[in-house]
Amino acid sequence: MEIPNWLLKQASLNPNRVAVNDGTTAYTFAQLVPLVAHRAGQIQAQTDQPRVGVMTHNNLAGYLAALGVLAADKTIVWLNWRLAPEELSRQIGDAGLDLVLVDDQLADRYYGGHRVLCSELTAGTAPAAVLTPTVDLDAVASIMYTSGTTGQPKGVLQTYGNHLASAISSSLNLGVLPNDLWLCVAPIFHISGFSILMRGLIYGMGVRLVNHFDAQVVNQILEDEPVTIISAVPYMLKKMLEDVQANDHCYSSAFRLVLLGGGTIDRATLNACEESGLPVVQCYGMTETCSQFVALSAEEAPYHLGSVGKPLFTTQLRLVGEHHEIEIQTPALTPGYLNQPAKFAAKHDGDWYRTGDVGHFDEDGFLYVDGRLDEMIISGGENIFPAEVENVLRQYPGIQEIAVVGRNDQQWGAVPVAVVVSKQPVDFQQLEAFGREHLAHYKVPKVYLQTDALPKNASGKVQKFRLQDLVANA
Ligand code: ATP
Ligand code: MG
Repeated sequence: MEIPNWLLKQASLNPNRVAVNDGTTAYTFAQLVPLVAHRAGQIQAQTDQPRVGVMTHNNLAGYLAALGVLAADKTIVWLNWRLAPEELSRQIGDAGLDLVLVDDQLADRYYGGHRVLCSELTAGTAPAAVLTPTVDLDAVASIMYTSGTTGQPKGVLQTYGNHLASAISSSLNLGVLPNDLWLCVAPIFHISGFSILMRGLIYGMGVRLVNHFDAQVVNQILEDEPVTIISAVPYMLKKMLEDVQANDHCYSSAFRLVLLGGGTIDRATLNACEESGLPVVQCYGMTETCSQFVALSAEEAPYHLGSVGKPLFTTQLRLVGEHHEIEIQTPALTPGYLNQPAKFAAKHDGDWYRTGDVGHFDEDGFLYVDGRLDEMIISGGENIFPAEVENVLRQYPGIQEIAVVGRNDQQWGAVPVAVVVSKQPVDFQQLEAFGREHLAHYKVPKVYLQTDALPKNASGKVQKFRLQDLVANA
């Protein structure tokens, strides 16, 4: 099915509204059209391929390049600038790219000879493209590699219809106000960031781009500018909270909420946010669903701390099997992984998509995500979800970061092992005693290791599979 081109539609409905703003320069929807058409023309002059890579920080040049790819009727392949050269070349090969549009600040990475800088795109003199007046909802707008928390990232196909379904579901929960201005500091190569850009086009809403995350910079913007919503992942929220507590920020009266997703969060942080007047709304989503498919409402959020909310308007959700795996149906679900149909098929249970996460409902129907099935440790026949253990032990004084993973054990089958990061030496006996106070004893890690830093991906998630060797040899 075809519907009107989103950008052209907004240029007609809301021509004078600011569409995007980086703190220095702002463009209205009407101003965006010729800029995007120019970028699209340059892209069409450079490649006949249906897909174009984009690697950028959250800045205007990268934003225009990405919209240019869409306006050229091609698919954006989002590339994460923190990838190692071999990971990057695997994705460039997987997606068959012969053109990668690159933020000038990232000029020196590996691109296999296909690199065109955003500044070169801006300076291009090829004729502007004529924008196609409609978009096909089944066409793939973007390909985004999953975080790779569990191993090799998978290239998720995201159609226009998926993005539209996701944006509509979110708006039916949070509402859309004419003055909404969504701060986008989550990387735009992840769905937490890109979904904001898509919502901007779908809602006719302003997007405030912030190049990269710095808690003080973000808090200052929330104080000085009329931002209404910010999307954050847990580590960003924690840094923002620390800075609010230290520097007593008072957000502008326009501010509505922090939309928090991407991973589990501990109650202590949520309580502290409430005390500090930081309104947090939790949500739960995946790259495969173009962001959230379960979320709290702003009214309910303070009363259901720790819950990720209720399935959104278009989400069907059920818990299945012994472990209560979360299965869903939603029009925001990807049609598949690039070049990996078997991997995608294996995630299905009839018409239901298996998220690989486990959870439970409270008596009021609010969902709690307990952890990832593939991280579950079975110890002496009992199931342990590392997220629960981490959320408790993280509250022990001095612990900066913690990851719990399983290790084979002759007696128990497997036992939990904790890897901690702390500026000071940690008294592991005390830490274990703290764990025993708050957790069933079988859940308390049997072995403790201290390290300088945990391996993380660009969205701040710990890559547990990279800890397996360390833990096996401890
Ligand atoms: P990969 O699939 O490559 O291993 P990934 O699953 O971490 O990586 P994403 O799509 O970025 O990649 O993340 C989605 C996952 O993040 C969900 O399946 C879930 O495990 C976790 N997640 C997202 N939001 C929440 C939340 N609010 N609470 C707990 N977990 C969450
Ligand atoms: Mg996943």
